[in-house]
Amino acid sequence: MFAKILIANRGEIACRVMRTAQRLGVSTVAVHSDADAQALHVRMADQAVAIGPAPVGESYLRGDRIIEAAVATGAEAIHPGYGFLSENPDFVEQVEAAGLVFIGPSSASIRAMGLKDAAKRLMEKAGVPVVPGYHGEAQEIVVLATKAREIGYPVLIKARAGGGGKGMRRVEDPDDFAEALAGARREAKAAFGDERVLVEKYIEKPRHIEVQVFGDNHGNAVHLFERDCSAQRRHQKVIEEAPAPGMTDEMRAAMCEAAVKAARAIDYSGAGTIEFIVDASEGLRPDRFWFMEMNTRLQVEHPVTEMVTGVDLVEWQLRVAAGERLPKRQGEIALEGHAFEARIYAEDPTRDFLPATGKLHHLRFPEAIADGTIRVETGVRAGDRISPFYDPMIAKLVTHGSDRAAALAALRAAIAETEIAGSTTNLPFLHALAGDEAFSSGDVDTGMIARRQEALTALPAPGPRQAAVAALEASGLTRPRPADDPWDTLVGYAHFGSNGFRRMVGFGNRTMEARIVPLADGRFTVELGGENFTLSPDHGERFALWPGHVTIFDGPVGHSFATPDPLEAAEDVAAGGDTLRAPMPGLVKLVRAASGEAVKKGQPLLILEAMKMEHTIAAPHDGILAEIAAEGAQVTDGAVLVRFEESVAG
Ligand code: ADP
Ligand code: ADP
Ligand code: MG
Repeated sequence: MFAKILIANRGEIACRVMRTAQRLGVSTVAVHSDADAQALHVRMADQAVAIGPAPVGESYLRGDRIIEAAVATGAEAIHPGYGFLSENPDFVEQVEAAGLVFIGPSSASIRAMGLKDAAKRLMEKAGVPVVPGYHGEAQEIVVLATKAREIGYPVLIKARAGGGGKGMRRVEDPDDFAEALAGARREAKAAFGDERVLVEKYIEKPRHIEVQVFGDNHGNAVHLFERDCSAQRRHQKVIEEAPAPGMTDEMRAAMCEAAVKAARAIDYSGAGTIEFIVDASEGLRPDRFWFMEMNTRLQVEHPVTEMVTGVDLVEWQLRVAAGERLPKRQGEIALEGHAFEARIYAEDPTRDFLPATGKLHHLRFPEAIADGTIRVETGVRAGDRISPFYDPMIAKLVTHGSDRAAALAALRAAIAETEIAGSTTNLPFLHALAGDEAFSSGDVDTGMIARRQEALTALPAPGPRQAAVAALEASGLTRPRPADDPWDTLVGYAHFGSNGFRRMVGFGNRTMEARIVPLADGRFTVELGGENFTLSPDHGERFALWPGHVTIFDGPVGHSFATPDPLEAAEDVAAGGDTLRAPMPGLVKLVRAASGEAVKKGQPLLILEAMKMEHTIAAPHDGILAEIAAEGAQVTDGAVLVRFEESVAG
């Protein structure tokens, strides 16, 4: 076994690989971009090397810098994770030329499977069933259109260099062929720099079923059964599971045998996946599955296979790369129970899955259960940012059960328990999908999500009681303050009158005012939108506070209320800044400090009355005031209220 390896990746997969390395006593080296200097994968590693700026082309795709980092730190091998350089045969050769081991297949294996058309020709020769279609060299439109007619519509035009669902067009009608071809070529050219395509029969009621394979450098190859990844949106996987629902012994034997045959045809070493497309219009039949492509790497959804086989696939990758034989023979690998994986993304399903960014102010995953029912794979912690530079996957929830229903119930519960505030996520969508009647019954195909998108992305509106709780929690009145808190006096002065404490609560484009009155028994009355709620501090709602917001969790849904508070905003952004600005138009009601004065962090400086509320503006840090707004001044949104002397700021 290696003494030290470098992980050429980030996020959850880098953390995943390191976990196994650490268990095996292998030291780990992380590489990171400037944006990831504080990332979890960097913290987890024994050593870390900065390899460049945030854009992937300047960091995680810089094979030269990654190899330099490995040599400099004395790592013997490089694990590529998935994505990035994992399927780049030139990189594999450069790694080997530097005297290092690539933890994955040979460059020749990757090349053989890298282009879909060549891979299909190779598989045909090896006797693996391939989707009926044209995988030849000719690219003239007349040839392709004729082939399409011979194949029979509908057909699928695919970029031969394709990946990630890009460069594909389904064509129903021969009249649309030319336009679809032009579109697929444009997309392929832009994404892969290669506009060549193949044409395939479009399989009706398609299911995506793939087989995990593993080879070593001693001529052994095994399979670890199948995964069903038919729950897709725009050809991208959403929820994966193992085994495939409705799988028969006969079908499994045929698919797994074909997959091992495919792996052997290219002397495959390491972890790989053979993806098949299945015509499920008449159930699962052994003569209705076809090779689609091979992914010559560890797959995002590999944990479901680990859950049902008990095999640590990363451990096998390390052992095989170190020259060991496969730890198990085919007959020693057994399926047990059922597993699911759901991919949690920062995206907004209600806005056609627009990618979201933001800071994960609050993050709570279900507790991993010691019996192995739940596994959480993530590369982020609370406080981390989802940046536009990288894949917006936040985490994967993986569950296991004795049967499909048990594993699915565990998945639904795990999704509902997950709390994320600060960025929009697809949690409600995943929960709806996991609870969908067709999905629950195992009636899956790749078009199901698109057909049911409206129902699956519908979101319940928050109730008025939740808004009232948000207002109460935003007020801070439920939490005791330290005795020497300089706020105490001012809070009393500014906020408590016969009218109680006022707070604005916004949701969507609606804003309401809440009036909070503390009761003698420790409870509170919250008046909001003409309704009164009597709430005790333990009101039973799950919630998270973050700057300017309160998120109330209701099952998988997080209702985020805007509860603007300039103090919180100041804490978030201006811990070292030199100006405090008005968060909204208002009136400077009271000024408690003067320019030239030395103030202490937390010292109240002025009170701004805005949107019928009084906001206390306090010093975010120690410093000397250069300027402070005048009492009685009307200020606009964003106006400077306080400016510190520059030499002291920060
Ligand atoms: P999987 O079946 O493992 O999800 P994918 O082909 O969807 O396989 O890719 C897995 C990961 O690899 C993605 O999440 C993404 O990070 C990366 N990836 C794959 N293809 C591309 C691509 N064309 N462009 C950018 N990233 C890609
Ligand atoms: P990628 O490299 O982008 O992953 P694939 O060839 O694996 O490309 O196809 C991605 C997805 O497109 C599949 O999982 C499946 O849902 C759909 N698909 C691919 N080929 C066909 C086909 N011939 N008929 C129907 N659907 C297909
Ligand atoms: Mg694929």
